[in-house]
Amino acid sequence: MKTLLLYSEKFLLHNNDSHPENANRLIHTINLLKSSGIYDILSSIDPQLISYEDLSEVHSPDMIDRVIEADKTGDWLDLDTYVCKGSYDIARLAAGGLYKVCKEVIQGKADNGFALVRPPGHHATSTRSMGFCLFNNVALAAHHLSKENKRILIFDHDVHHGNGTQEIFYGRDDVLYQSIHLFPHYPGTGKVDEIGEKHGRGFTVNAPLTHGIGDEVVKEIMSEIMFPIAEQFKPDLIIISAGFDSHHADMLGGLSLTANIYPWFVENFRKIQPRIVCSLEGGYNYEWLSKCIALEIKSLLGEKDYEINDEIYEEKNEYSDRLIRNLRKLLGEYWSL
Ligand SMILES: [Zn+2]
Repeated sequence: MKTLLLYSEKFLLHNNDSHPENANRLIHTINLLKSSGIYDILSSIDPQLISYEDLSEVHSPDMIDRVIEADKTGDWLDLDTYVCKGSYDIARLAAGGLYKVCKEVIQGKADNGFALVRPPGHHATSTRSMGFCLFNNVALAAHHLSKENKRILIFDHDVHHGNGTQEIFYGRDDVLYQSIHLFPHYPGTGKVDEIGEKHGRGFTVNAPLTHGIGDEVVKEIMSEIMFPIAEQFKPDLIIISAGFDSHHADMLGGLSLTANIYPWFVENFRKIQPRIVCSLEGGYNYEWLSKCIALEIKSLLGEKDYEINDEIYEEKNEYSDRLIRNLRKLLGEYWSL
């Protein structure tokens, strides 16, 4: 199994130590990958800059220019989202690097890959950087691959809804967006009836989850709704917006997922399409972030005995049955569920 790892020390240069989305996230992770020996069995790949022109097919020139302007001195784009000197190029390396990994995988030069990138991307809309995200790495890769007639499935397991990714593909049927997320929570989108518009109706699937929901309920939603839709969509590539703030120990979260759910996602999506690329989004508890990433990578490598001791008591509630019924009703017109 050839699994690519996209990483560069340049991703550490976009940094603000007093902000939860800082370079320590990657430092902890790369240290764990090295000390556990996982790093040595991965194939390293260097990032590559995405051009202004390629960025502007997804993001408005005004939005890109605001990042370029803030990059000159270092500035904040909103209350949550900082830009350092050099962040413009670092964000372009993250987005261009992810696109490069996806191309290698889709061309069969590698089996799958993990993009250990910063800054994250899934909140960046077509017109606005927000929520720690400058440009939408996953949406840029999916958009450029779709121009080569590839069908892309994006599955987002971050605790926050990927409002940017949803908005960018809301009217399109060549990129399918699926998300599980805490609701209500930042950024406020991702209701169950947000299913796309025009050609894109049925191609956005949201599973908003209540506080404290854990593995059992999520596995049920995946098996009843997400996997059957993914199978019928027949993607050429699956990109996972890999946010680990959905883990129970994350300080920005509120769900109760254990570390073992992340490799479970990969293992099951692999049965639908083995070409999978994961791209880092959130996750702010350094210790658990690095463990969860290591487990997701282990499952990309095809390891079966990935489970670690991370159990949390969770009671199945009525909510999941109601949510599944709702999703069937809303999406049953487009997919056989
Ligand atoms: Zn998040």
